[in-house]
Amino acid sequence: MLKQIVFIIVLLITLGIFSYTLRNLILLFKQTKPFPIKDFGKRFLMMLKIAIGQTKIFRKPVTGLMHALVFWGFCVITIGSLEMVIDGISGSERIFSFIGIFYNFIMASDDIFAFIILIMILLFIGRRLFLNIKRFTGIEMSHKNHIDAYIALSMIMLLMVSLLGMNTFYLGSGNEIKGFYPVSSIFASFFSNINNNTQYILYEFFWWMHILLIFAFANMLPYSKHFHVFLSVPNVFLSRLEPLGKLYNMENVAKEVKLMMNPETAFTASDSNTVPERFGVKDVEDVTWKNYFDALCCTQCGRCTDVCPANITGKKLSPRKLMMDLRARMNEKGSGLIKNGKEFNDNKSLIKDYFTSEEIWACTTCNACANECPVNINHPSLIIDMRRYLVMEESSAPSGIKAAITNVENNGAPWQYSPEDRLLWTKEINL
Ligand code: SF4
Ligand code: SF4
Repeated sequence: MLKQIVFIIVLLITLGIFSYTLRNLILLFKQTKPFPIKDFGKRFLMMLKIAIGQTKIFRKPVTGLMHALVFWGFCVITIGSLEMVIDGISGSERIFSFIGIFYNFIMASDDIFAFIILIMILLFIGRRLFLNIKRFTGIEMSHKNHIDAYIALSMIMLLMVSLLGMNTFYLGSGNEIKGFYPVSSIFASFFSNINNNTQYILYEFFWWMHILLIFAFANMLPYSKHFHVFLSVPNVFLSRLEPLGKLYNMENVAKEVKLMMNPETAFTASDSNTVPERFGVKDVEDVTWKNYFDALCCTQCGRCTDVCPANITGKKLSPRKLMMDLRARMNEKGSGLIKNGKEFNDNKSLIKDYFTSEEIWACTTCNACANECPVNINHPSLIIDMRRYLVMEESSAPSGIKAAITNVENNGAPWQYSPEDRLLWTKEINL
């Protein structure tokens, strides 16, 4: 009974802290712009293929398999964690064991995956420590980012150690054994000379260690790059279905064009006075909620920057940095926006103070970054919106682009010749 009371208090504290974080995140999302989502059936299939099947991650077969094993392992282990929470509240022990043979299967998978994840995490830590992986470096990767990664990896390692420790001493605790634990059975054989009472105490110790680590980890994730543990599956579900190269029209500009083409049908009475608040994206309040979701979901893996032709050829642009900058800027400005509304101005902006014009114009819009990102983040659409702001509100663009835009405006083509002269060349060949 005492265990139940303590557990419920700890659970309520955990849920309280998590709800506070969630509330703050919802308030931040409210500062962003809408982004419509439809075609749920197609999205579900894409989620199964890319998020659950981990298909993109397998483009690098070895690290891809390592990461996929950790992901699938987490999915299985979550069932065991859910059982622990129900056991903790109700005072039961291994409450899911009523499902019989399936329970043996789930617990065996849980036990095997805990061991596999432990090995993979040790390899990931070793890789970060001893191999000089280029994609883990870059101007955006500060010491803090690396520490963040080590903390999260260490937490996962301790989670697996505590899970295996719990299973190992459960087997020698004198309790009626429910489930099958192939890996922990081997470990348990090393401790067979310890009496049941001591093993029971060790079992309880690891049970509490494991559940407290889960609670701490869940509350730590939203503040770290490992938030993708929660967000990667929904982010893939919400990602764009259209071809990556397709540009979204700006609604108000499209109306202006329609007005020029056909003034009578361009506007309905209700929307004729709509004035856009802003063309494109200057700061965090101009991005869509999906852009911000992308930024929160970014794992900082660097796969996008690794394939970016601008970055490879020595330009300052890094698509990973764009996601990290957006998240950092929202952390900086978000509370001011929540408190003072959209008019809040701290004399800084995402463009210039975080992501410079030089970076924005270095993009070739090749979409390699979006194609490579394992969680389907779309960087180019945000870069294009930032360009739209620069061009339409600040008349700022590299001179070559300005000349092309002026020519399109004057000549209907990016060249500096009049449309009337377009067929002059045919005279020379006597057509
Ligand atoms: S779309 Fe832009 S940011 Fe993405 S890979 Fe290509 S050049 Fe780099
Ligand atoms: S945007 Fe995607 S590919 Fe790039 S670092 Fe983030 S998760 Fe990795």
